[in-house]
Formats: sequence, C-alpha cells, structure tokens
Amino acid sequence: MNGLLKGALVACGGAAGAVALRRATQTRPRYQPWERAPYRDFPNRVLVIGGGFAGYTAARELCRLTHGRDDVGVMLISRENYFTFWPMLASVISSDVETKNVAQPLRRALIRDGASFRRADLEAVDPARHIVTAGGREFPYEHLVLALGAEPAYFGVPGVEEHAISIRGIGAGEEITNKVIERYEETTLVHGEVPESKLTFVVIGGGATGVEIASELHSLVRDLLVPDYPNIDPRSVKIILVDRNKEILKELDPALRRVARKKLADLQIEVINNVKAKEITAERVILDDGREIATENVIWTAGARASVKLDDLDFPHDERRGLLVDRFMRVEGHEDVWGIGDSAANVDEHGEPVPPNAQAAVQEGKAVARNIIAAIDGGKLEPFRYRPVGQLVEMGSEFAVNEVMGVKFSGFIAALFWRMTYLYKLESPNSRVRIAADWLLDLFYEPSVTQIRR
Ligand SMILES: Cc1cc2nc3c(=O)[nH]c(=O)nc-3n(C[C@H](O)[C@H](O)[C@H](O)COP(=O)(O)OP(=O)(O)OC[C@H]3O[C@@H](n4cnc5c(N)ncnc54)[C@H](O)[C@@H]3O)c2cc1C
Repeated sequence: MNGLLKGALVACGGAAGAVALRRATQTRPRYQPWERAPYRDFPNRVLVIGGGFAGYTAARELCRLTHGRDDVGVMLISRENYFTFWPMLASVISSDVETKNVAQPLRRALIRDGASFRRADLEAVDPARHIVTAGGREFPYEHLVLALGAEPAYFGVPGVEEHAISIRGIGAGEEITNKVIERYEETTLVHGEVPESKLTFVVIGGGATGVEIASELHSLVRDLLVPDYPNIDPRSVKIILVDRNKEILKELDPALRRVARKKLADLQIEVINNVKAKEITAERVILDDGREIATENVIWTAGARASVKLDDLDFPHDERRGLLVDRFMRVEGHEDVWGIGDSAANVDEHGEPVPPNAQAAVQEGKAVARNIIAAIDGGKLEPFRYRPVGQLVEMGSEFAVNEVMGVKFSGFIAALFWRMTYLYKLESPNSRVRIAADWLLDLFYEPSVTQIRR
C-alpha cells in the first residue's frame, strides 16, 4: 500500500512537473489570431517575400516594432510553410538530426506576432501598381521586401544537374543518405568484384558546406552503416573532396584551415585542391587537369547564386549576388522595394560587400525592419552595419573548427559550442527540445539508419 502511494505521488509529481515545464517553454502570443485586422485593411502594408533567415526575421522584427500600432500590417509570403535551418542540414546525413527538425514552422510564430502568412510562389511584381502576384492572387503593398535566398550555381559544367546531388532544398540531407544506402544495397547483391565507382563518394566544393558533408559521410560509412553491412569493408569506401582553390575553407583563418585539413586526413578523406570539375557523367568526374575519378556518387556544393526568380522581375540585379541595393537596402531606383539576404548584393556602411550567410541575413532582416518603419514615420534611414560574429564548421559530431570574435578553437569543445550555438539559434522550441533529446539519446543508442523509398 505504502509502495502504491509512493508510486502515485511520484507519478503526480512528474505530471505536475511536465505541465509546469510545458507552460514555461510555451511562448506567449502577442495577439490572438482574431485580434488583428486583415492585412488588406492597414494603411501601411509591408509585404515580405521569402520566409528564410532574412525574410522571417524582417517580418517578426516589423511586428515587434509596431506592436500596439494599428497603422502597419505585415504579411509574409513564402514557397513553403517552414524555413530551412540550413546550418543543421548536413547533420541529417548521419541521422544526428531529423529533417523534420531542420524545418522551422513559419505560421504559428508569425500569426502570434500579428503578421499574416500565405504559402505561395512569387510570380510577378508590378512596382507601378504596388502589386505582387503569388499563387495566382494579387497582394497590395506600400513596402515590399524581397528575400528569396540563393540556389546552387553550376557554372555551365555539363552533367551536374543530371548526375549530381545539389543542395537545393531541405530533402538534400536524406537524398545523400539514401544514395549511400542504395549503393550499399546494390553492392551486397554483386557477385565478384564491386566496381570502384559504386563506393566512391565525391564532394565537389571545399567550402564549409562541402567539408561538413564530407565529414558526415565519413560518420555514415565508417561508423553507422558498418554493423548493417558486414560484407562491405569500410576501408574500401572512398570519400574525395574536390576544391578549385589552393586550400579548403578559404574563408577561415589559416591556422584553423590547417587543423581542418589534418582532421580530414585523419578521417581518410582525400582532398584534391587546385582543380575544377570539368564534366560529370553517370560514372565519372572529369577534372580540368585531365584526371578522372570513377564514381557514381557526386555531391555538388561548389557554388551558389541569387534566386533565379530575380531574372523574371524588372529590378536591377547581378546574377550571382542578387538585387542591386543602396546602403539602406533599398533596391536601386525604388524607394519602397527592399532587398535582403542571399538574394541581395548588400554592402556594409563602408561599401564593402556583405557575405551571404545566416548571421548577415538575420542582421539585415532586423535592420530593414527598422528602416521601413523609419520610412513610414518620416524618420532617418540608417545604413546597414554588418557585425560578423564568427564562423563555425562542424566535422562530425565530435569535432569542429570555430572562430568566434577573433578567438580560434577546435576539437570536441568546439563541437559542443557548435551544438549549443545552433540549438539556441533554432526558432522552434519544439525542434530545440527534440534535437537536444536526440543528441542525448545518441550517447546511449546509436541512431539506426534506414532508407525510406518514396
Ligand atoms: C547547406 C547549407 C549550410 C549552411 N550553413 C551555414 C552556417 O553554418 N552558417 C551560416 O551563417 N550560414 C550558413 N549557410 C548560409 C545561410 O543558410 C544563408 O546565407 C541564409 O539562409 C540566407 O538567408 P535568406 O533568407 O536570404 O535565404 P533562405 O534562408 O534560403 O530563405 C529564402 C526563402 O525564400 C523562399 N523562396 C524562394 N523563392 C521563392 C519564390 N519564388 N516564392 C516564394 N518564396 C520563395 C524560400 O522558400 C525560403 O523560405 C548555409 C547554407 C547552406 C545551403
């Protein structure tokens, strides 16, 4: 009886604790959905297109700055009803993070802040009429923010689009894992010698994304898949990183670059520098120095360009860097159209180009919101000031190379720092808790890797 009572008390205590934790972690909405007037009824309508790091931040900051005002309405239109938390995408390859947790939901947070959301593809902009067409409907605006992001650039290399996986969307992590498993399954069915091309994985592009993907591939083939495929010798699997620069991670400090290079050598990832891929076929990568790599598995991370949608719009832009904007982020020749994130060629207060990364996109989102409100209120616009915080590159779950405000560090502590930073930066509290729980469980149980064929 005593034991039963104790059990009941523990269960009640646990349940009360869970409810308290749930209350504490739930964010309080600024508005209930029914409290806001429809977007169309506001005298100043700010329409944000693209719900990634830049657009999402801009919309939320606009809501924060205009809280309690009834003269500014905010709407965000984006292709998907989530945004992709790109820095964690590579972790999907080794099942360290699940794809659904890389997707950060847009709707709830925006609606709670008082913004409207529509999931639609941008079709056209008519700046003379102040109208955007998206999803077959017209949306009016007084101020328009374009934040369409970037996409892979192929530089005219034949065969990339047909034969390589490129990082086009949130599914890329799973696509890479599935490709590896597909090759492993095929290999187990081969009688006799397995062609080298089946188990050679080539990552093209030695920037942070390429290095992270190559390292995650290593965890997958040298660790996770080993117990599932006893007849494949992990040493027969090759990972090759091809980079056109003299060194990989060219944006990083030279000392960290050396550490990263040594780590890749320890992981037995072969690095080929100073060469470009000239052509990709179904069975090989042809390099511009004449060498050829036999492979059926190519991952392309060699370049990015601003959204191709800009080519259909009548705004001045550079194909690679995006919309041409002034120091206040206004699109050249337009007082009420603003460009931010990877789809805009933003410059800082000294006129220096701002790099296309998440921290810049978030800072631009906040700054553009302040300038739009200043423009509405007849205030003074501020030039964009970029404050780089640093660079974090994860190389598997236990190693990273980081540079944060001038401090350089690497190894396990750096990997922990990487994890803590990006956990904190995730927008969805739900994903944050789930990813943290997964990482904790991974200490005790190895994640299982399966191929879901669709
Ligand atoms: C694999 C990968 C890893 C990365 N890792 C890092 C990192 O570790 N650190 C870092 O600082 N940066 C990293 N980056 C770069 C960073 O993610 C980008 O710089 C950042 O996402 C730019 O934000 P954005 O809002 O401009 O674009 P995005 O975040 O890509 O958002 C663009 C949005 O526009 C929407 N959209 C596009 N076209 C249309 C259309 N026609 N109609 C409607 N909506 C549209 C998209 O659906 C998307 O929601 C990484 C990028 C990649 C690809």
